[in-house]
Amino acid sequence: MRDDTRRWIEADKRHGWHPFTPQDAWTDAGHQPLVLVRGEGVWLWDSEGRRYFDGNSSIWTNVHGHNHPTINAAVRRQLGQVAHTSYLGFANPRASELAEQLVAFFPEGTLERVFFSDDGSTAVEVALKMALQFRMQTGEPGRTGLVAFDKGYHGDTMGAASLGGVSRFFERFRRFGMPVHFVDSVDELEEVDASGVAAVVIEPLVQGVNEMRPWPGGMLRRLREWCDRTGVQLVLDEVMTGFGRTGTMFACQREGVVPDFLCLAKGLSGGYLPLAATLTTGAVYDAFLGDDERAFYYGHSFTANPLGCASALASLRVFEEERTLERLGERIAEMGVLLEGLRREALVHEVRQCGFVAGIELRRPDGAPFPPQERMGEAVCRAAREHGLLTRPIRDTIVLMPPLCTTRDELEFAVGALRKAL
Ligand code: PMP
Repeated sequence: MRDDTRRWIEADKRHGWHPFTPQDAWTDAGHQPLVLVRGEGVWLWDSEGRRYFDGNSSIWTNVHGHNHPTINAAVRRQLGQVAHTSYLGFANPRASELAEQLVAFFPEGTLERVFFSDDGSTAVEVALKMALQFRMQTGEPGRTGLVAFDKGYHGDTMGAASLGGVSRFFERFRRFGMPVHFVDSVDELEEVDASGVAAVVIEPLVQGVNEMRPWPGGMLRRLREWCDRTGVQLVLDEVMTGFGRTGTMFACQREGVVPDFLCLAKGLSGGYLPLAATLTTGAVYDAFLGDDERAFYYGHSFTANPLGCASALASLRVFEEERTLERLGERIAEMGVLLEGLRREALVHEVRQCGFVAGIELRRPDGAPFPPQERMGEAVCRAAREHGLLTRPIRDTIVLMPPLCTTRDELEFAVGALRKAL
């Protein structure tokens, strides 16, 4: 091991604290974490010079590949001007341009306003607070209820976490958070008394952290109809599905649905920098006008950071220049064919694919789940690393979510590595 690598790992184990990580296993002498130092396209290199395919797009963020010349140039150009200025009290050119381009994806008179923040969790927090304050200011203060879906995931800040339905993560904090009513389908929602409900929140088309579980086709449209009928606002969390992952720019476009709030992060900046946006309608915005007391008193220091916005604008330009979405259709079909081959592997119980996102669920050959303490998903991902593929499991479901720029050969490499690991 190189001296640098050893030093970085030692300092990490002594002083670092990783997300979602039991730290005693992480700091165990036998665990040698990879130190990632460089990226190019779909590839990442560790500090020992080994190359890996970025199989989960660096936790679902990267869109056009690492070290992309267009995005690099845009960030550098902005860096030559200024890295950060406050959006509290000032405008900035990149944020103006980005807001204009984001609302242009939606029909006129629908999503018209963009509230910037930092990450997926804050994009959801913003939507929640806006939805609740909206009711206070439109004569419906009794509409304080929030509805979310079982096993969903919307982030880790307190409000977003209250919407989380993955009990392992959220149960212990439930009593400190916001009261949320959980349902598992639109059928169940039909039974809910909607008169006290402000908003319903969902990950459209597919629940990511719920082991990549797709919703039934048409479900989102039914949900929109229920919202229209009951006056409940629809919050779509497209933190994972946004920016092409499911085959269209936004998942909601697949069912012709426009929400009242749209939460974006991860791929918004091309996966380069922390940046988030909550889009909403003119009707919501108007309810915050008038008296100063009606303003939305909320914000973060790095809101609308110019580097992040420059990176997002460049990423949108790459979508055009590389015809990313047009070319993606073929790649999605190829992924389907390659994954079909994996279904024959003894340990593969089910393959779930939604666009360019897949979950490969492992079980025993007799169909029974592996005991959790066997950590089979982790073991397979560790083996895949030896074959040059980096990804993470969600329990025993292996996530395959490559950058959208992945070529056919690269996709074959990734699925091949997973097959060898299995
Ligand atoms: N919503 C969804 C659907 C997500 O998948 C995630 C993160 N995996 C979040 C929200 C939270 O995003 P962040 O980690 O950027 O706060």
